[in-house]
Amino acid sequence: MKNDELYGQLGDLIRGRRRKLTLTQQAVAARIGISRASLANIETGRQKVLVHQLYALAAALNLAPSDLLPPVTASESSQDWTALPLPDDLKLEQKKQIARLVNAAQVEPQRRYEGTMTHGSRHDPALCARNLLERLDIRNILIPVDKIARAVGAQVIFSPLDDELSGMVFVKEDQTIIGVNSLHHPNRQRFTISHEIGHLELHRQFISTHIHVDKRFTVLMRDIHSTTGTARVEIEANRFASELLMPEWAVQRVLEQTEIDIDDDEAITVLARKFRVSRQAFQYRLMNFFS
Ligand SMILES: [Zn+2]
Repeated sequence: MKNDELYGQLGDLIRGRRRKLTLTQQAVAARIGISRASLANIETGRQKVLVHQLYALAAALNLAPSDLLPPVTASESSQDWTALPLPDDLKLEQKKQIARLVNAAQVEPQRRYEGTMTHGSRHDPALCARNLLERLDIRNILIPVDKIARAVGAQVIFSPLDDELSGMVFVKEDQTIIGVNSLHHPNRQRFTISHEIGHLELHRQFISTHIHVDKRFTVLMRDIHSTTGTARVEIEANRFASELLMPEWAVQRVLEQTEIDIDDDEAITVLARKFRVSRQAFQYRLMNFFS
């Protein structure tokens, strides 16, 4: 990769992430002790970043420094992405990003995924999620999704992906990999990880033959029984994720403490924060809770 290209890509990553977090150039620049003009130049690739600035930038953007390093392009890499069972509908660049993520996974044979499916709950994603929480003895309102992912034997890897991609899951021999777009908002990442755990628990056969890549989770709560095929698989994983992050008992507990109007956006936002989910995700959960 040429130097100009490298700094250009670094700038794009920084700008994209800053906007995602709705931070101004002024705010980020102040936090890392440079002028707004310098940050503007860094974002356009005109100014070269020093190593200590890269660390400060990563901290200000709530990322690991390595997340800001542009990937080595496939032509420069020995990793063969064409050998992986990737979905056909991805763009070339997206395929390379997913391949890089899969290839970054460590081989951890001791963490082989055995499946934790409680017998009989396969057809009820919500019940399946509640059973998993119970089995892991999780009772706090703030659900530790990373811990749950590890408990079911998955390695969670954060890597910068195209904005359209939320994450992926794949079971490959001894490895179970959950990939998350490191550039997305932390709440969205929590939903992504939960959705992928849902696939692991509910659709194992499906994700051991192909890498399952998730784009936007547009349809959250459509009626499971009215749909078939791929859409149904996604709705089931969403239903699972929703229940995992906002289990019935937790929603109940929160609602006992506060009286809310489902149309009061501000009140919903405050409650969503308790669960570290988006307002939309919490709203859908409530609709489901009351139906
Ligand atoms: Zn999915």
